[in-house]
Amino acid sequence: MFNNQDKTKGCLFVFSAPSGTGKTTLAKRLCSEINGLAHSVSYTTRSMREGEIEGIHYHFVTVDEFKDMAEQGDFIEWAVVHGNYYGTSRLKIQERLDNSLDTILDIDTQGAAEIKRLLPSSVLIFIMPPSLEVLKKRLVLRGTDKEDVIKQRLLKAEEEIKESFHYDYIVVNDVFDEALEDLKCIIRAEKKKTHRYLIPP
Ligand code: 5GP
Repeated sequence: MFNNQDKTKGCLFVFSAPSGTGKTTLAKRLCSEINGLAHSVSYTTRSMREGEIEGIHYHFVTVDEFKDMAEQGDFIEWAVVHGNYYGTSRLKIQERLDNSLDTILDIDTQGAAEIKRLLPSSVLIFIMPPSLEVLKKRLVLRGTDKEDVIKQRLLKAEEEIKESFHYDYIVVNDVFDEALEDLKCIIRAEKKKTHRYLIPP
């Protein structure tokens, strides 16, 4: 499956966005509203935040456990983001796509580039904030980060936005419902692409 001939009925949608853009909320809404669409649960070494649940938000592992898994080739991609390791399970993705189940990966720009290289039929969607000013306001209002962390996130956001050029789609999350509708349209259209059909020539 993991080659250039990946003719599979399950679609892989890769979402990336600067922190605070609303990517996770959009992905959750899509999964609750579209049958057969689910969000892949990544592995991470970062500590659990308040309200997070093991196996729902992430699989939380130690650095040693993560490195063992990476060595064994358990991840289709992995990256260091904000000083922590994050990785996507190769087996889980393979199982879902083989069973014609559509999947959203909520991963950073490094991971997205790697997925596109391995699975060219994956669909890369960059969720864009309306502006850096609006993003700053959202991060301040969210109240979860201190001023210096917000500054770091904004610097990272500028780098990430430069990478959006490599994505298949850019969806600006200004008005949530409009961004949600745009994403539903993309998903609907992508599922109808000719190469998704396993019709013999
Ligand atoms: P957070 O710790 O705030 O949930 O996520 C931090 C960043 O790591 C986000 O940009 C998120 O998309 C990214 N991320 C989450 N899981 C993965 C993964 O499995 N692989 C990669 N490359 N990035 C991930």
